[in-house]
Amino acid sequence: MSTPADVKDCPAARHIVVIGGGIVGACCALALIKDGYRVTILEPGEPGGEQAASYGNGAFLSPASIIPMSMPGLWKKVPGYLLDPTGPFTIRWRHLLRLAPWLMRFIQAGATPAKAARTARVLSSLLGDAPTRHLALAAACGVAELIRQDGLLYVYPDRAAFESEAFAWQLRRENGIAWTELEGEQVHAFEPSLSRRYTFAVRLQSGGHCLDPGAYVQGLVRSVVAQGGALLKARAEGFNVVDGQLLGLITDQGMVPCDGAVIAAGIHSKVLASGVGDRVVLESERGYHVEIADPAVGPRIPVMPSDGKMANTLTRGGLRASGQVELASVDSPPDWARADILLHQLLKTYPGLGDEPGRLRISRWQGNRPSTPDGLPIIAQASMTPDVVHAFGHGHVGLASAPMTGQIVASLFAGRTPPIDIAPFAATRFR
Ligand SMILES: Cc1cc2nc3c(=O)[nH]c(=O)nc-3n(C[C@H](O)[C@H](O)[C@H](O)COP(=O)(O)OP(=O)(O)OC[C@H]3O[C@@H](n4cnc5c(N)ncnc54)[C@H](O)[C@@H]3O)c2cc1C
Repeated sequence: MSTPADVKDCPAARHIVVIGGGIVGACCALALIKDGYRVTILEPGEPGGEQAASYGNGAFLSPASIIPMSMPGLWKKVPGYLLDPTGPFTIRWRHLLRLAPWLMRFIQAGATPAKAARTARVLSSLLGDAPTRHLALAAACGVAELIRQDGLLYVYPDRAAFESEAFAWQLRRENGIAWTELEGEQVHAFEPSLSRRYTFAVRLQSGGHCLDPGAYVQGLVRSVVAQGGALLKARAEGFNVVDGQLLGLITDQGMVPCDGAVIAAGIHSKVLASGVGDRVVLESERGYHVEIADPAVGPRIPVMPSDGKMANTLTRGGLRASGQVELASVDSPPDWARADILLHQLLKTYPGLGDEPGRLRISRWQGNRPSTPDGLPIIAQASMTPDVVHAFGHGHVGLASAPMTGQIVASLFAGRTPPIDIAPFAATRFR
């Protein structure tokens, strides 16, 4: 672990501080080190620790995760979400007024099929080759065993349920995603642990997953340090910008001199972004997971049951069910009833787990998806200075899209053309 003094005394190349040791910060740091910068990761907690969304996510690396949460007709469902305490989406009444501006933009973002199709196209450019990028990154950082590309399974009670999502699958097809369909006995021959309730499945061969997202981030950060980068246990509080040039970061441990900075602090990025001239619209879509250690059964590849709207993944810690969208303030206490909804779904989905939760070893987690209302991240130079680059707001797809984000960030510092069109990720789009 470095101190601000060590960081200051290091000689050599342009010094860039990456604020945040989640998956996005780790991938940015690796891409910047590769370009020859001197890199420091600033993180007040453990990299990839429980405070980070990157710790407890569903571990899906899915090129198919391009369907925005906001789809045409969503506004009709909002009253139901407010009233149903057991559904996959909930809004805490108390926070409704404060969340209203985000919600209005959220509903508008997917108001027409054309808008949803545009978002899907943009997300596809970020996610299309996510499993391949993660495989390469994991191998280069000595954690190859944590990334797999064995495919993903989306399961439905029947073909009619699948067809009720025809628009979403049409968007996936239009964006080059291929799949095979399994029906009836084929579903259970492929995945025997599944409840007989499911009679239709979509198998996405190109999908991947991570076996331990928290350990993966730690592995990537270890590699940053092994390559000469620094890890500083500190919290960024602001920027010292003079005449449009960044001179240093203000942190709770003192000033850290630097020539560039990346804001990759997940849900806490909003306040930092406002310090460099960008008032962005960002809220937490709070999510939960439950994990059953040493489960009696579990799917051989990750599964997404359509009725539970959750990701079921066998991780190193056990069978994880993650999901739920709860709109409330970041600092509201967790509502563990939401994790229990996931547990209940999990037991229904895999009958071999038994129906006595009391006999299972279960852990629960709550985290914050850093979400913009239009479902797209903010990856752009700050309005006040090009020395600060935003890399946050990845919502539901931050694990999968982090390597491409790192490439974009590195290209912005180097003055190279980014690998994909970044106009949709502008911080100024909320003005
Ligand atoms: C339930 C759930 C399921 C999900 N499932 C998936 C999935 O299957 N696939 C997928 O791709 N994505 C998934 N996601 C989304 C994904 O986890 C996030 O988009 C991603 O982890 C965001 O990464 P991040 O690095 O931006 O933020 P984080 O992981 O939250 O990291 C931010 C870091 O910044 C640090 N920090 C905060 N403030 C400061 C400061 N002032 N100074 C310095 N450091 C600071 C924090 O301590 C933290 O470590 C899921 C999320 C949730 C909640």
